[in-house]
Amino acid sequence: MTTQDIENQYTSGLYTKRPITVVRGSGARLWDDAGREYIDLVGSQGAANLGHGNPAVAAAIAAQAANLTALPEMFYNDRRATLEQRLIGIAPRGLQRVYLCNSGTEAIEAALKFARLVTGRTEVIATMRGFHGRTMGALSATWEKKYREPFEPLVPGFRHVAYNDLAALEAAVTAVTGAVILEVVQGEGGVRPGTAEFLRGAQQLCRERGAMLIVDEVQTGFGRTGAMFACEHYGLEPDLLCLAKSMAGGLPMGAVLMGERIGQLPPSVHGSTFGGNPLACAASLAAIDYIESEHLAERAAELGTWFQARLSGIQAPVVREVRGLGLMVGIELKQKVTPYLQALINHGVLALPAGLTVMRFLPPLVISQGDLAQAADAVEAVLTQPAAVKDGPAAE
Ligand SMILES: *Cc1c(COP(=O)(O)O)cnc(C)c1O
Repeated sequence: MTTQDIENQYTSGLYTKRPITVVRGSGARLWDDAGREYIDLVGSQGAANLGHGNPAVAAAIAAQAANLTALPEMFYNDRRATLEQRLIGIAPRGLQRVYLCNSGTEAIEAALKFARLVTGRTEVIATMRGFHGRTMGALSATWEKKYREPFEPLVPGFRHVAYNDLAALEAAVTAVTGAVILEVVQGEGGVRPGTAEFLRGAQQLCRERGAMLIVDEVQTGFGRTGAMFACEHYGLEPDLLCLAKSMAGGLPMGAVLMGERIGQLPPSVHGSTFGGNPLACAASLAAIDYIESEHLAERAAELGTWFQARLSGIQAPVVREVRGLGLMVGIELKQKVTPYLQALINHGVLALPAGLTVMRFLPPLVISQGDLAQAADAVEAVLTQPAAVKDGPAAE
């Protein structure tokens, strides 16, 4: 049996598979089991900002794995201490303490619990088209019906308002609101950047009305949008900042950074066995060092500007809009995106959907301009030859 036969027999069934068996990666390139090479604009859904097989991260993981891997937070640890200090050093102003966990949804789950604990209020205002993860709390903040409905009833107290609609948020945040949760650029929801007015207004409202501002930078963090954190573009100072994806250079890790309105939490109300393990901490330290020394955020800003301009020049009736921030880029189509993604694979380029009609690109930030140009040529070829793509108009 082939790898694909075996996975098809034993997999949960939860994932819509692409017919490629990926066996190796380097930088922004991936190879399948037949030796075919691909330019990777999926970037492990945002977990591969540092590129595949990053040598600095690999060396840090190997050294730490031979020394100490799992260690609960009941014991102090040198790698963890160094990482906590480093995270606060690079974080938006006002963040003072760190909770470490193992994924994005865990970071969101923790932030929601901390906001409820500190405010004594249960209501949470989230945004339409927002995505925050799949565990029950994070899912309650997520908008997409097909993720939510099979699992209802969800956690009570969650309401959604239109993203970038400050008046709607102003009407929704009241004296019983414990938290507002939002992304700086909506990722899964279609690569939609927030407006300064909305994001700064949300922060102002939270401060005035005693709610905590939870900013979800799971996808936008660690250089992706052209700054270490997307908050920096808007001068945001959240009470709770959620991180994961590229945080440990590709190893599973998440974090919640907390400001003074959260303060120090009481013992035992939350925790995680693997949270803050020295292996992930060592990987994260190497990742942060690499992002800084290789200027990956500046790279994302420059290459992102170039890439968006290049894509905006594509003359194709199927394109509705090109948008993004840094190297987080989307093309909204007037048709379903899936057949175009399949056609891109035939050109040796891997990309993501965001919803039904948006083609999304999250390339490793180490990608060369040559690779990005080659990928853009492939995107242009696919979008301007709709005859090669068999599908009707989008259902949306
Ligand atoms: C991916 C993502 C999550 C969930 O992260 P997981 O590690 O998959 O649980 C949460 N929020 C945003 C914005 C994301 O992009």
